[in-house]
Amino acid sequence: MSERKVFEALKWASSFLKEQNRDENAGEWLLHWILGMDRSQLLAEQRMLLSDKDWIRFERAVKEHASGKPIQHIIGYEEFFGRKFMVNEHVLIPRPETEELIEAVLQRIKGLFPKNKPLKLADIGTGSGAIAITMKLECQNLEVMATDISQAALKTAQQNAKQLKANIQFQQGDLLEPLMEREEKWDIILSNPPYIPDHDVLDDVVQDHEPSLALFGGADGLDFYRRFAMDLPKLVPQQALIAFEIGAGQGHAVADLMKQAFPSAQIEILLDINGKDRMVITQI
Ligand code: SAM
Ligand code: GLN
Repeated sequence: MSERKVFEALKWASSFLKEQNRDENAGEWLLHWILGMDRSQLLAEQRMLLSDKDWIRFERAVKEHASGKPIQHIIGYEEFFGRKFMVNEHVLIPRPETEELIEAVLQRIKGLFPKNKPLKLADIGTGSGAIAITMKLECQNLEVMATDISQAALKTAQQNAKQLKANIQFQQGDLLEPLMEREEKWDIILSNPPYIPDHDVLDDVVQDHEPSLALFGGADGLDFYRRFAMDLPKLVPQQALIAFEIGAGQGHAVADLMKQAFPSAQIEILLDINGKDRMVITQI
């Protein structure tokens, strides 16, 4: 047994992480994972002695995070909409803001389409598969296709779909090309494309460990929305739902692009829980 009790290990981790300007609470998260305990079990076991093996693993994990490695890359997954998604350096770690996009879309599907109507949904730039897989599992009447330009991302998404038992088609390709090739119409098109302006400086945990391909969207971050606005009118039927995640401050620009593409559509700019514009939803 090491000489360390749970609360002492956590105290060490939080002061060490604070010194290195990292999230002080990361230690708790890492110790949950190492001990296989949830938060309340860990709280109840504050005086338990850590085994040597667990202490060594904990110290190493805390130091890895202190040097900038995302916690999710250390533990290998992120939770999204209550499910575990495997992540790695090839995919964006799914963000809580994207859960808000899912909620908004689920609500609007109910309002726009008859219950249980078979619908075709495409998720463009699927990354870990978070959006496509969650939509399929929350709404069984959807036929879901997920695309990405990155083969390595698609492989990760496929593994997540298998693990979570979501039946989804995957297709590699540049933005809407895989959809155009099929000459079909899509009732629902969703995307959280890269939207960060190319020259923005990001936190090193993000910049050094998440793929640039998933983050940067041209000089003003809007390149992908411009391409969407050009091609989407060819891909949707009379009645359709298109929803994007966007960066803070991009709401009006993206809504204007969609207005040009779909002049009679109803377009909403929605804020996230932090009050930042985060979604543009177009109902056609
Ligand atoms: N949908 C995931 C999510 O919300 O967590 C990942 C979103 S990430 C911001 C953007 C994704 O778009 C990345 O997986 C990236 O590989 C993909 N991507 C970048 N350029 C693309 C392109 N030209 N065509 C298709 N996918 C692209
Ligand atoms: N929300 C991500 C970030 O701030 C960016 C995701 C994106 O570009 N779509 O790091």
